[in-house]
Amino acid sequence: RSAMASRRRSLLKVILLGETTVGKTSLVNQFVHERFREESDSTLLADISSKELQIDDRHVTLQLWDTAGQERFRSLPPVFFRGADCVVLVYDVTNPSSFRSLDIWHRQFLETVNQLDPKKLPFVLVGNKADLDGQNRRKVSEDRARQWCAICGNIPYFETSAKDNQNVDDAFMHIAKIALAHN
Ligand code: GDP
Ligand code: MG
Repeated sequence: RSAMASRRRSLLKVILLGETTVGKTSLVNQFVHERFREESDSTLLADISSKELQIDDRHVTLQLWDTAGQERFRSLPPVFFRGADCVVLVYDVTNPSSFRSLDIWHRQFLETVNQLDPKKLPFVLVGNKADLDGQNRRKVSEDRARQWCAICGNIPYFETSAKDNQNVDDAFMHIAKIALAHN
């Protein structure tokens, strides 16, 4: 790689999908703005937030597309998915239905987008609200989540707490690396 190429800033487009209330907006707020709020502002169609990062010798802009979870994938306009470098599926470890719905998100995504995009898009799974594990509120075990990831072709898995800022930076840095490798 030339010195010029390494100095060029890459734009990495990452889409967050998952049921409403799993904590997509909170994860982005924690990572980009370093804040957490108990009350949720429901996301309208999508919010786009960016953060500049350095990955090894590369300067990148991670552009996070935070979607409204109640929108099923098919109702999202194609502009959401055009040029995406990584898809982050988010569920809530205390909410089994948010875990079960991953199949739908994943399948719908593969059916439509990967047909348009010959460069297969990488997925990452995030189990959020891991802080509630301590209160015995977990309903989806890490093993079950990892099994799902294995079945879907070894999707990387991270558990986070947007509330306690557990593993959030680490998860997004891995996501950025995966997106950069696709870009
Ligand atoms: P979204 O619909 O996926 O964007 O979810 P939000 O980010 O709006 O979060 C929904 C609710 O869950 C809000 O009340 C948040 O404060 C709360 N929440 C988000 N992340 C966490 C977390 O890691 N732990 C806990 N305990 N609550 C969280
Ligand atoms: Mg939201």
